[in-house]
Amino acid sequence: MNFEGTKKIVIAALLLPSLIMAAEAVLLLGNYYQSFRDFAAGKHYAYIASDAGNIGSSVIPDEARATLAFLADRSSENHGKLAARRFDLDNRFDRFLALLAESAKTQPSLDARIRGLWQAVEHLKAFRDSVDQGTARAEQVIGQYKPASIEFLELVTSLRYEIADPGLSRQLSLLIDILDANEAGLVVSFYGTEHFRGLRLSDQDRETFNQSLALMNVTVGRFSAFPDSPAIKSIDDFARSLDGRWLARIAQEVATGDATPSRLMLRRWSQLQDERIQLWQDSIRSVVEETRASGDALALRSRFFLELLVVATVVFSLLVGVVILLAVKGVSLADRLIRERELLVGELRNAAQTDLLTGLYNRRGFDAAATSLLRAESAAGALSIVIFDLDRFKQINDAHGHDVGDMVLQRVAQVAQDNFRTQDLLSRHGGEEFVALLPNTSLNEAVVVAERVRAAIEATEIRLVDGTTLKVTASFGCSVTENENVRSAINELIKRADLALYTAKFSGRNRVVIDGEADMPVVERRNSQKT
Ligand code: GH3
Ligand code: MG
Ligand code: MG
Repeated sequence: MNFEGTKKIVIAALLLPSLIMAAEAVLLLGNYYQSFRDFAAGKHYAYIASDAGNIGSSVIPDEARATLAFLADRSSENHGKLAARRFDLDNRFDRFLALLAESAKTQPSLDARIRGLWQAVEHLKAFRDSVDQGTARAEQVIGQYKPASIEFLELVTSLRYEIADPGLSRQLSLLIDILDANEAGLVVSFYGTEHFRGLRLSDQDRETFNQSLALMNVTVGRFSAFPDSPAIKSIDDFARSLDGRWLARIAQEVATGDATPSRLMLRRWSQLQDERIQLWQDSIRSVVEETRASGDALALRSRFFLELLVVATVVFSLLVGVVILLAVKGVSLADRLIRERELLVGELRNAAQTDLLTGLYNRRGFDAAATSLLRAESAAGALSIVIFDLDRFKQINDAHGHDVGDMVLQRVAQVAQDNFRTQDLLSRHGGEEFVALLPNTSLNEAVVVAERVRAAIEATEIRLVDGTTLKVTASFGCSVTENENVRSAINELIKRADLALYTAKFSGRNRVVIDGEADMPVVERRNSQKT
């Protein structure tokens, strides 16, 4: 099994689920962020709607009424009341502009609205000057304040299409309906009063009255969709009361021109209209407050999603950290396993190629090392083999025991290793026989090396446990080739060195014999074998 491949599989097994997890996390975070944005936008719209509704339906009309009162009676009390109303409008308008400006950053369509509102309020301020200078007339007041009021109420209506939250959308519908109904109701009330005062309504006035009455009725009819709103319930209760029903009937008679003006009718009509308008004003105030409360609820929800976003981001980052940590750990573990495995394989290979007793190459190790050495050997120089075998080693075993024999083999291996050259490849080929490969070495040079080793072995005193010393000798055979083809057939070369070794044995041992010197008579060989 390929370990690099395993490593890749481990990394993929860690990273693929992590990637899927990351994609899911990004989607989730995106959803949280979207919810946060939606609720935050909803909150703003709710605040804008409630503030605009309040300014349009009560703050501006309040100033208009105070202006009318002041124009009718320029008393210092009326002046004080007017100043308070103006201060209130300016204050609220400034705060409202700031609120709008903040939302306009995300909702450019509001920019045009801001300009319109600002112009309307500037216009009002100019009119205030003419009131103060005494050049303004009471008949102008409605015409001056109405457009500003309408501008604010239209802003509320335009928000209807911006709002995504269904709860807020419903709340806004109610606010718009009740504001529309109130506007229509004011017109109905105004022309009705004119009628009962005995003033003849022009056709256009009557048309306006009819349209307003119809609009008021239609809008009030829509209130039934909000049975749980306390503000709507009180409007409903009034409409169902005797007085409410009387007002509705009389308004219908004015519309058809059937109502007869009289002081009594005027008084009752005006008194009930004031009552109705007061009730509706209160209802509008409470719906405005409900709208603001929806904004607060949305603010809470957007905060919740913001917190969720933060927590989820932190958790997600921690998870990513853990995954990265695991991946790094996994990879380093895989690397360590690979390293340890290579080490182990190396050790096993060494063990399989090394002779346990002497630490030299064994036959298998020699073959492998020789093959790679010859492959690396670029020059076609001479290649020599030196083979040597301990003389009468069996006797050492017999006389001193196998353990001593082993010790002798170790010492001889050590001495040989020390006396061959570093580039020579020395191995124990089995028993008490050693083979060395001498690269780039001529036969003469090989003989020199062999002779040096032979002399060193002969000179070595091996101290035994009982204090006595032992000496051994070895016989050597050498062979050489300069032929490229024979180089690859190393066994052939060893065989020839072996023959030379036999010659060395037969000719008296403890000597070096070169390949080709094996020309002794067979009889002599037999004799040698016996000795
Ligand atoms: P010659 O000079 O002809 O080589 O005589 P020799 O006695 O060395 O030759 P022979 O082949 O008859 O004996 C080799 C002996 O080496 C036989 C065996 O007991 C001994 N031997 C082989 N391997 C080991 C070993 O690993 N340890 C020990 N102690 N003895 C071994
Ligand atoms: Mg021997
Ligand atoms: Mg032998």
